Amino acid sequence: MFTHVLRPGAIGSLKVANRLVMGAMHLNLEALDDGGAALAAFYAERARGGPGLIVTGGSAVSPVAAGGPGYSLVNDAAHHPALRRAARAVHDEGGTIALQLFHAGRYALPTGTGTAPLAPSPVYSRFSRTTPREMTEDDILRTVGDFARAAATARALGYDAVEVMASEGYLLNQFLSPVTNVRTDAWGGDPERRRRFPLEVLRAVREAAGDDFPVLFRMSGADLMPGGPGQEETDAFAVALAEGGAAALDVGVGWHESRVPTVQSAVPPGTWACYAEAVKKALCAAGHPDVPVIASNRVNRLEQAESLLRGGIDFVSMARPFLADPGLLAKSRAGRGDLVNICLACNEACIDRSFGEERVSCLVNPRAGHELDYPRRPARTPRSYAVIGGGPAGLEAARALAELDHRVELFEAAKELGGQFRLARQVPGKEDFGATVRYYTAELARLGVRIHLGRRLGLGDVAELRRFDGAVLATGVQPRLPDIPGWPLLHTLTYQEAFAAPESLGERVVLLGGGGIAMDLAHLLTGARTGHPEAFLEKYGLTAHGLSTAPAPPPPPARARLLTLVRRGPRIGAGTGPSTRWVILSQLRSHGVEMVTGVEYREITPEGILVRDTDGADRLLRADSVVFATGQERERGLEPALRAAGVPYETVGGARDADGVNAVRATSEALSAAYRL
Ligand code: SF4
Repeated sequence: MFTHVLRPGAIGSLKVANRLVMGAMHLNLEALDDGGAALAAFYAERARGGPGLIVTGGSAVSPVAAGGPGYSLVNDAAHHPALRRAARAVHDEGGTIALQLFHAGRYALPTGTGTAPLAPSPVYSRFSRTTPREMTEDDILRTVGDFARAAATARALGYDAVEVMASEGYLLNQFLSPVTNVRTDAWGGDPERRRRFPLEVLRAVREAAGDDFPVLFRMSGADLMPGGPGQEETDAFAVALAEGGAAALDVGVGWHESRVPTVQSAVPPGTWACYAEAVKKALCAAGHPDVPVIASNRVNRLEQAESLLRGGIDFVSMARPFLADPGLLAKSRAGRGDLVNICLACNEACIDRSFGEERVSCLVNPRAGHELDYPRRPARTPRSYAVIGGGPAGLEAARALAELDHRVELFEAAKELGGQFRLARQVPGKEDFGATVRYYTAELARLGVRIHLGRRLGLGDVAELRRFDGAVLATGVQPRLPDIPGWPLLHTLTYQEAFAAPESLGERVVLLGGGGIAMDLAHLLTGARTGHPEAFLEKYGLTAHGLSTAPAPPPPPARARLLTLVRRGPRIGAGTGPSTRWVILSQLRSHGVEMVTGVEYREITPEGILVRDTDGADRLLRADSVVFATGQERERGLEPALRAAGVPYETVGGARDADGVNAVRATSEALSAAYRL
């Protein structure tokens, strides 16, 4: 098992223990004023997990190159202690680490300095909402020099290699694409001149760092932008990089402005491997079979990595899975794959935060990014705790308490663990929420947590509660019942009832509410199914060989139901993260879901629901079923019993505050409560 993953390998002169690379992630720990303590602790924990190579989040080669205010600046001495500490921490754990050298170009987010981002041409960016300044020849040469200095600095700081970021639409990628490089001088105009800047960076970086210092290149396998370079250009660039001495090609895919999702749960795992395979094929055809190719993006299980390696890829990069579970390799190697906490591709605590200033973490592993706040050491005095509720918050509270060596019993009213995750796992693309429930079930069993299923504690259970030294109240939420004339009627349901029996709903459904639950339910009710990589590529007009550069909009599939999503407020999915909201909305639109916003709910009638538009006109939305996903109330009926029992307790998740609660908040509150108790 995992014989290909566990095979030692080499990237240039660097020997690595296996074929797994932890991919670059910006963490917003890089520029903290803590001397690099949190950053080092984060990487040390990942190194203990044993990937062959860790690639850091991008370190900007100059202030204007930074993606935002939380980036480290490799050429600024003030950032060197933290960068050095991170490298040392990885080495202390026996790992190897490459520093990613980064220039955002026109994707630089405003830093408040008033400096315009730099780019090959002044082409407006929908991602950063800026028009960059066109780089002069001096800017270009200075930037090449910045990369070279950065590589030499990385080596001096103790890094084993560097990776030059030239993918995902950042500066070097911008030079390569005719969409963003419309220059007619020596740095643009035809494919060869568009390649000149990244190749010049490679040459300068190699010269500055020395021949024995590996330089990886993160290149774009496909930009997924209309008008972007085609396969021929991509192949030619890969070959030029190999001939220029790149030690490995790490193949990314997609730009932030692309209308093709790449990192969301809607993308079937393994979809993008074909682009890395195409690069490998091009290298082999050009006589460079020894330059390793790294496949990356949307690989969330070690089994997939093993299969890609078996197929001829040299290394596999996994990034977010190391947030979700730094021990994924060690656990799988030990035959305990059931204990691996799978990344859900939800992006809620990682990618969405990386675009701002909030510390990156993980929905299913809230300790990520907070390793120093939550040290793994047994409590001085083991106690016994009751956790009431087996949803995400209760599961995480029980896990964290048990890991601290406390005795834990978990009480769940339903016959099964999972809470709201049991609803989410039914939604197309969200099946991995079921894997999270399986992970917690296995982990709680390993930690010796006693689980009482189908046991609803009530006000008469004071004596039972007195058995414990403390408790966590994680009883979650209940649907908020609507205050609308005419409710309830035979055809009205709560979202919980609709999730429990989606097949019982009629042909015409009106869903009231526009939050995450309403969007999930709408998606489920469309009858959409999670596809395979080939079907996904086809849907977006892409081929498995990356030949298409102008993705066609996905064709609308047959409509299973007439669905209307109705919200009082102005925006559907306002609380959903920016990396995911547009994908879900476009999926719903492609299934013909009508979206109505800014209306007042007037009355439920036997024919449907009467709403009033902003212009004061009443409108009947006809429906066979009207489903309410209009909010939630916290469920904390057990509090009087806890107080009567005199047991100290913490309330977490939806039971603490139902307003805007989501799983990220629920699990992080649970972890923090476990350490407070
Ligand atoms: Fe994966 Fe979601 Fe965790 Fe990000 S927050 S690492 S996408 S599970």
